[in-house]
Amino acid sequence: MAVNIDNYKKLVKELKGKNVELVAVSKTKTNKDIVELYKAGQRDFGENYVQELVEKYEALKDYDIKWHFVGHLQTNKVKLIAQFVHLIQSVDSLKLLQEIDKLAGRNKRKIDCLLQVFISNEETKFGLDANQLTDIINEYNFGNLPNVNIKGLMAMASLTDDAAQIKKEFAGLQKLYKKYTELSILSTGMSQDYKIAIENGSNMVRIGSLLFGERKKKA
Ligand SMILES: *Cc1c(COP(=O)(O)O)cnc(C)c1O
Repeated sequence: MAVNIDNYKKLVKELKGKNVELVAVSKTKTNKDIVELYKAGQRDFGENYVQELVEKYEALKDYDIKWHFVGHLQTNKVKLIAQFVHLIQSVDSLKLLQEIDKLAGRNKRKIDCLLQVFISNEETKFGLDANQLTDIINEYNFGNLPNVNIKGLMAMASLTDDAAQIKKEFAGLQKLYKKYTELSILSTGMSQDYKIAIENGSNMVRIGSLLFGERKKKA
């Protein structure tokens, strides 16, 4: 399926007025699709499998794409993306953050990160609870992770048509986010729920199918 440039232009316009950043989630999509959206103006792309991200990064090195990692990241795979990743959105443990810090240092750079918070009613989703979040931010504020910047929070709402449920989840997260005044990014909202996310404080949305068409089931 082709990239929907019409949807892209409408979305860019809609988000611009609200100061919301767009990350185009290109998982399972081809390099050709990515380049098409790049040529329409998009620079931030998100992937959720390390191997796929590395392959796309290598193939598209000529383009000044900012690569976001949005999937579950295993500690032993951090080294594969540490050299080039723009924002790791899915940090869900202190152990993972420590590994990112270590490899960022080794690559002589600082890596921007978001902490992924668990807000849904689905056990399949990853993320921290409020206490774990506090523990990690305390550790960071203590100065023990000099090569990472914690920029904000990321979360995924339940996969449901129940708008009230989604709103409740995003609203709860926004409350938590506001407690940490040093944070500046709240990454919530996908194709189905981005409007509700923005009404509840999101300033970064991660959109796949609305731009690239539906994915085959795998992802
Ligand atoms: C796939 C994915 C998205 C985009 O989902 P769509 O419903 O296609 O917009 C956003 N965030 C994460 C973490 C994803 O894995």
